[in-house]
Amino acid sequence: MSKTSVLIVGAGPAGLAAAITLKAEQPDAEVCVIDKAAEPGNHNLSGATFQAECLSTLLGAVDRNWEKSEQAKDVLAHKVTKDNVMFLAGDKFAFNIAFSLKLAKRLRINFAQMSHQGNYIVSVSKLTKWLTQIAKKAGVEVIHGFAAEDIIYDTTKNIATGIKLVDQGLDKQGGKPPNYVAGEIVNADVIILAEGCDGLVTEKFIQKAGLVRKANQLYSIGVKEIIKVSDEQFKKFTAERVVHAMGYPLWTPVLGPAMFGGGVMHPVSQNHIDVGMIVGLDWKGCDFSPQDALTNFKNHKFVKKFIDGGTVVEAGAKMIPEGGFYALPRNPQTFAIGKSNVLILGDAAGFVNMLKMKGLHNAIKSGIAAGQAIARCTNNLNAVSSKYTELLNMSGVMEEMKQSSRFRQNVAKLGPLFGIPLSVFGQKFPLFNVEKDYFALTRRKYKYKPAKSYDKNTFTALAETAHREEQPSHLTIINRNICAQKCTPKFNSPCITFCPAGVYETIGEQVKPANPSNCLHCKTCQRKCPFDNICWTAPEGGGGPRYKNM
Ligand code: SF4
Ligand code: SF4
Repeated sequence: MSKTSVLIVGAGPAGLAAAITLKAEQPDAEVCVIDKAAEPGNHNLSGATFQAECLSTLLGAVDRNWEKSEQAKDVLAHKVTKDNVMFLAGDKFAFNIAFSLKLAKRLRINFAQMSHQGNYIVSVSKLTKWLTQIAKKAGVEVIHGFAAEDIIYDTTKNIATGIKLVDQGLDKQGGKPPNYVAGEIVNADVIILAEGCDGLVTEKFIQKAGLVRKANQLYSIGVKEIIKVSDEQFKKFTAERVVHAMGYPLWTPVLGPAMFGGGVMHPVSQNHIDVGMIVGLDWKGCDFSPQDALTNFKNHKFVKKFIDGGTVVEAGAKMIPEGGFYALPRNPQTFAIGKSNVLILGDAAGFVNMLKMKGLHNAIKSGIAAGQAIARCTNNLNAVSSKYTELLNMSGVMEEMKQSSRFRQNVAKLGPLFGIPLSVFGQKFPLFNVEKDYFALTRRKYKYKPAKSYDKNTFTALAETAHREEQPSHLTIINRNICAQKCTPKFNSPCITFCPAGVYETIGEQVKPANPSNCLHCKTCQRKCPFDNICWTAPEGGGGPRYKNM
């Protein structure tokens, strides 16, 4: 495989949707998808409540009876009929404010987007496995265990010609033992970047091709556990309930930590409930860890009754792109989400609607638009990014992104107490210029620090993360003097605290990425180090977490 017609980087829902659509439109098209995970779905983690209507468009094109398959029934087993929107006041009191959504719906105001009624509760990891099977059956070549390192982009002609893969077999010092294999360059006529949030190649392409974001991309991190609970607890929770909680332990009306985010709960399968915490990376407390907030959420009286005594069976972490419409990377001349023969899809572009707390439907719709655009531009592949953006505009993705376009910026500027309710009028506000997340850190301490430290070793074991130990570290601290002279005295080395996998440690006097093989590929360290002093590069393919039901 050193030449293909269409090369897709990332076998997640967006990339696979593009491959399946293109094959449905042009069965002879040569389509290859590469992914750094060892197996399909291993690196895919989400909430997730899912607006599943887009599957009819995607899968209806290849199989009219797709809904009758066993996989469809398994992936779409849980439909939301109980939509709890909780406000948590302290660690005991909880108020269901779902009535405000009904009111908002009746008044047709923006806030109503937060409703999840009628959506499906899915594991994106399982969804990805299923879509991989469908893509392969349609003749798509899906190759796992190969990580992409860079895009070969000709700035004089403004076209991309291929993707450089990561070298395999280097030793710890970067030497080349006999089993070393240089990362191949895979040439392609069209390249689709669907790597997920903060994609390594995507960000390099944005730089090389001169794409611009009108507003900074903002991120949050989600940490999540799947807990096996008793029959009675699951019966009480039900297989159709979703919980989205705001307030404690991230913000309170008076003197709270004022962080964006909240807790979530979903049924996963019989007797399994997932419990997660999403936190905007613009948190201020230098001793804060998202897992501390997860601990507090799990200990809240409302949550505890459903999970107390349960066993955590799987765990993981991932970043979410939250900047919305104005943070989409665009060609400044054409406004395309991409350039010439390169398209950016799904979370890699940032098609997440944080007011809805969803992005999966937009990721799949962007994949459909990409597949259709390529099929319609076979005689002029350099026009494919413009066609893709035109089809995105027609698909409703852009319209939806516009409707929530200033939400995250409003909350960042006004705080959750005012920013969330004022999102009702969000489109009337100017676009606030919000700095990148890492600027937000202060010496402030997290108010609700739990007495017991979170067990990160068990967390990473439950994510089943592993890498070949004898390879160079894929995490680099750019300037160690900054750690020693600026960060440690001022913030007490926050990467040690916030990395969910416990990768960073102080060894001797130095902060080091001591356990790179524990890394979950969430990339939080790269976006939250207060001195922008960490560089995440892709390790050899096949490493990283091995999610099954996340
Ligand atoms: Fe601070 Fe970043 Fe150094 Fe960690 S890597 S100690 S967060 S400057
Ligand atoms: Fe996430 Fe960075 Fe920790 Fe890896 S090292 S788990 S990317 S915060």
